[in-house]
Amino acid sequence: MKKLVVASNNEHKLVEIREILNDADVQVLSLKDMNIDIDVVEDGNTFMENAYKKAKEIYQYIMEKHMGEYMVLADDSGLCVDILKGEPGVFSARYAGEHGNSQKNNEKLLKNLKDVKIEDRKARFVCAMVLLAPDSREIKVQGEVEGYIVDKPSGTGGFGYDPIFYLPEFKKTFSEMDSKDKNAISHRGKALEKLRDKLASF
Ligand code: IMP
Repeated sequence: MKKLVVASNNEHKLVEIREILNDADVQVLSLKDMNIDIDVVEDGNTFMENAYKKAKEIYQYIMEKHMGEYMVLADDSGLCVDILKGEPGVFSARYAGEHGNSQKNNEKLLKNLKDVKIEDRKARFVCAMVLLAPDSREIKVQGEVEGYIVDKPSGTGGFGYDPIFYLPEFKKTFSEMDSKDKNAISHRGKALEKLRDKLASF
C-alpha cells in the first residue's frame, strides 16, 4: 500500500482527509506519525503556491533524512468573500491576527460584513492540493464550494469558518451538516476526488 504523508499540523484537515480517502489504497500518515516537527511559513500569494511550498519542504525533509519512499500531500485552503474582494483568502487562518483563532476570525469577518444584505454575502471555500511523489511526479488539484456568510454562527461540527458558511441547497451551515455530507460537497472533498482519479493512473 502507498504511504501518504499529509503536510499539515491542522488536526481537522487531517481528520477530513482520512475520512475522504478512507477507501482509497493509501495509508494516510500525519506529520506527528512521522515525528516531523516543521511549521512551513505560508507566504505565497495563492493557495496553490502555499500548498506547493508545504509539500516541497516536507518532501525534501523526508528525502534528506532518508526516511523512505513516501508521497507527500499538502492542503492550502481558505474562504474568499466576494464583496470583500476575496478576503480573507490566503490569510484565512490568521485573519484576526492570531494564527488559528477561529472565533476571532469569524468575529472579524462578521464585523466586516455588518449591514451587508444576505444576497451580497456570497463566499467560496477554496482548497488547493499538491501531491509530490518519488521520481519527480506531482499532482495539483483544486476544489471549490459556494455559499453565503450568515450573520451569526450556527452548529457545532467542523472547524474554522464552518459555523458561518451557509449552503442554501441544504438550508444548513457546514457546522450543522454531518461530516459525511460536508465531505461529499466540500472544497476539500472535491479536490480529493480529483486527486483520487489522478492517483489511480499514477
Ligand atoms: P491553511 O490552509 O493552513 O492556511 O488554513 C486554512 C484556514 O482556512 C483554516 O485555518 C480555516 O480558518 C479555513 N478553512 C479551510 N478549510 C476550511 C473548512 O473546511 N472549514 C472551515 N474553515 C476552513
